[in-house]
Amino acid sequence: MSGFTAPHCGSIRASDAGRELELYGWVARRRDHGGLTFIDLRDRWGAVQVIFNPTKAPEAHAAASDLRAEYVVRIKGVVGRRPAGSENPRMATGEVEVTASDLEVISVAKTPPFQIEDDTEADEALRLKFRYLDLRRPRMQQLMELRHRVVKTMHTYMDAHEFIEVETPMLLKGTPEGSRDFIVPSRLHPGSFFALPQSPQQLKQLLMVAGLGRYYQIARCLRDEDLRADRVVEITQLDVEMSFCSEEDVFSLVEGLWVQMWRDIFNIDISTPLPRLSIKESLLRYGTDKPDLRYELEIADVSDALRQTGATILKGVLAEGGVVRCLAVPGGSNMHRRELDELAQIARGAGAKGLTWVPGPLDKHLSEGELAAIRGASGAGPDDLVLLVADRRRKAETVIGLLRREIARRRTLIREGEWQFVWIYPMYLFEEDDQGHLTYGHHPFTSPWPEDMHFIDERPYDVRARAYDCVLNGVEIAGGSIRIHERALQERVFEILGMSRERIHAQFGHLLDAFEYGVPPHGGIASGIDRLMMAMARTENIRDVVAFPKTQSHQDLMLGAPSPVEQAQLDELHIQIRPSTKPPR
Ligand code: ASP
Repeated sequence: MSGFTAPHCGSIRASDAGRELELYGWVARRRDHGGLTFIDLRDRWGAVQVIFNPTKAPEAHAAASDLRAEYVVRIKGVVGRRPAGSENPRMATGEVEVTASDLEVISVAKTPPFQIEDDTEADEALRLKFRYLDLRRPRMQQLMELRHRVVKTMHTYMDAHEFIEVETPMLLKGTPEGSRDFIVPSRLHPGSFFALPQSPQQLKQLLMVAGLGRYYQIARCLRDEDLRADRVVEITQLDVEMSFCSEEDVFSLVEGLWVQMWRDIFNIDISTPLPRLSIKESLLRYGTDKPDLRYELEIADVSDALRQTGATILKGVLAEGGVVRCLAVPGGSNMHRRELDELAQIARGAGAKGLTWVPGPLDKHLSEGELAAIRGASGAGPDDLVLLVADRRRKAETVIGLLRREIARRRTLIREGEWQFVWIYPMYLFEEDDQGHLTYGHHPFTSPWPEDMHFIDERPYDVRARAYDCVLNGVEIAGGSIRIHERALQERVFEILGMSRERIHAQFGHLLDAFEYGVPPHGGIASGIDRLMMAMARTENIRDVVAFPKTQSHQDLMLGAPSPVEQAQLDELHIQIRPSTKPPR
């Protein structure tokens, strides 16, 4: 057998006419027509039509009548041009057909649980259980190959810029990236655990202390977080760190990578430098730190114009330090009540107290001047409707940002063909967590904006960070920062984050110690390849770009993982299982 040197089914072209060849592949489809048997023979490169002719090759023709979908076969035959008029322009091999002289069935197949074709209606759970069949679909094969190309470009580009790939361990001590750690019990050290990396963050910084200067890695990162549409528990990042660099160095390195990648993959020239938006501006104008700039719909702040308003709801929110933000819906003045109710529902779902609009029920409480200010600020024309959200700043931003996306989707305002990159920079150093406590924005190793240090104790949330995200079409495709490289400052930030001296020492002593042995200023970035792939493949489902993904409830349906283990294994690890009080998910 030498399928390795045989031509690919999907690569045969008219220029091969007359060639005698051997092909290996899967039967995609069989049909009998006018005494002939036709099959489409498929491999990763595509499919080609094969004909079994009873007069030219009676044995092969007879054997072909047993062929079913997904049988694996070897055929011998001769390439010919299809008769004029029977070409299939939808297939890359549509000008040719292979007339078989010989057929060998290498492996038979049960009827697959779903048809192996691009527009499958099959339920995702079924596709994940039979992922090896799902991956046979041409689209999935293309996505796997695209992913390979993307990573290959990364390797080539990083190497060309003198970065070296260094592998870091999987068994680590926790490094915080804002998620829960996956932990692994140590057999030899009862009661002690390793953490799987949420990212190689501290190790790459230590590689800078080690003098490596420029590091990268295609790194696997594991984050035990609740799954959302664009999250998976196992991610792969292009992880980068470099010494003696500024933000500008990181931007130009990464922009150069995108330029190279879009050229290699789409044959498109991206124009750089990419636009930049501060986080403050991004939240104000787009209501999100991941703005999709493929549509306009800018949000405006009308808090100042409404401070003295007779609309008591708005006035009340403003009096408590909240804000009023608004958004014009193009051509929305004739929007149905039902659609407005749906939008209000979405707003409430995001935690808003309510949603109001102009023209609408509030008009009679608003002065002429206030109405004009609202229309003016939002840029509303006569046919537009203005949505208004009044709430605490962060909440108002989230809610109106969601509405902005929803409106763009419903009114098909998104210019689908565009690639809209933007840097979000600078970011804020701290954020509020779900319980309203102060936490880090990016991670605790991020350098504060030096000019803001003097108010870090009084107004921590206003302190900017030397941190940046790169967003593409509303998807965060990379994020990083210039790091703290001084022990005292790092300790101070840990303390502001509420960590005790003991905890700082126990968790980060190694890093702080390292900072006492000559440390270069350094910074870096990581690009989540899964999310980058989503944006590049224009899919909303992150599982489309991962060969063997977990479900939303963290299961591998194909392997049946996670699964219980033998008692002996638990004993060895000194683990005792307590019955769960929660129902299984
Ligand atoms: N470790 C960060 C992350 O995984 C990236 C970085 O700061 O370089 O998001």
